[in-house]
Amino acid sequence: MAYQIDITLTPHKKEKPASDKLGFGIHYTDHMFILDYSVDKGWHDARIVPYGPITLDPAAKVFHYGQTIFEGLKAYRTADGRIQLFRPQKNFQRLNLSNARLSIPDVDGELALEALKALVRVDQDWIPDAPGTSLYIRPFVIATQAALGVAPSTHYKFMIIMSPVGAYYAEGINPVKIFVESDHVRAVKGGVGEAKTAGNYAAGLNAQEAASKKGYSQILWLDGVHRSYIEEVGSMNVFFKINGEVHTPALNGSILAGITRDSMIQLIKSWGIPVIERPITIEEIYEAGRTGALEEAFGTGTAAVISPVGELNWRDERLTINGGKTGELSSKLYETLTGIQNGTLPDPFGWTVEVPQA
Ligand SMILES: *Cc1c(COP(=O)(O)O)cnc(C)c1O
Repeated sequence: MAYQIDITLTPHKKEKPASDKLGFGIHYTDHMFILDYSVDKGWHDARIVPYGPITLDPAAKVFHYGQTIFEGLKAYRTADGRIQLFRPQKNFQRLNLSNARLSIPDVDGELALEALKALVRVDQDWIPDAPGTSLYIRPFVIATQAALGVAPSTHYKFMIIMSPVGAYYAEGINPVKIFVESDHVRAVKGGVGEAKTAGNYAAGLNAQEAASKKGYSQILWLDGVHRSYIEEVGSMNVFFKINGEVHTPALNGSILAGITRDSMIQLIKSWGIPVIERPITIEEIYEAGRTGALEEAFGTGTAAVISPVGELNWRDERLTINGGKTGELSSKLYETLTGIQNGTLPDPFGWTVEVPQA
């Protein structure tokens, strides 16, 4: 099915930043995608327009009740000049799971993918090609109805913006120090932890800032009831290699189902290493650390792909993992997944989706 997407090109193309000065989410491309929703018309007016501010009524529901969700994925420029996305259908599936949880109407996943391809094509010169760089893509939905009654909005905007991002590991993969948070929690079962919605991140800023002041770059979140079961690390899913097997917290309703998580599980299993999804306590990780059974720990997510954990601090007890160095499995996963993403390795799983350039 072909969708009608109107395209208005900008008369003023911006200057592109140098590939070593990209950072993360600082620069934006020349165009953005917008799709409107009203109860009367459904989703309508698909359009690509010059990137810029939008006007919203101060009473728009997104500002007051946080009815909003987002996604994050990347486009890569391959060495032979092709453009590819990584499992974008998964992102739009998850977008609709988040939508459902926040009482936001479903967005047609096929239209979203067509729109994304069209937008990437229009701004293809913005995809950096230096090693480790990519174009970060941020689809999101906001509730725009001007009304202060607590009820689902009658109007929404689905938008896609894009930002060229730099190499996450410009100086090689560096393990991070993680603070295990025993006071605040990220999410609870029955809440919105499974949805990629703004409030989850706003609620974590406080603990994140406190940890950062103590010299820790991320939080390890524990469950809200027992403060014992491991949930996630920052905004990444977390894995532990124990006695030659890989363990990761089972998706339980409060954990975000990462697409990188799913890809890692498939990769690790394809190498003949067992992956066990189950509830994991912080106590048992410390015990495995003491006995030497804990071999590696790492977080996974679209932005960093993999982030090895070199040290944990739980109630002032420090646990060094793998001598504070990047483990063998972490390195292999990083090399393999980034290789598939940027086209230097074959894609036996059929994960990549090419964006036609003409
Ligand atoms: C986005 C996100 C992840 C990682 O998901 P990916 O699809 O792998 O990028 C993990 N945890 C949280 C809380 C997230 O928001």
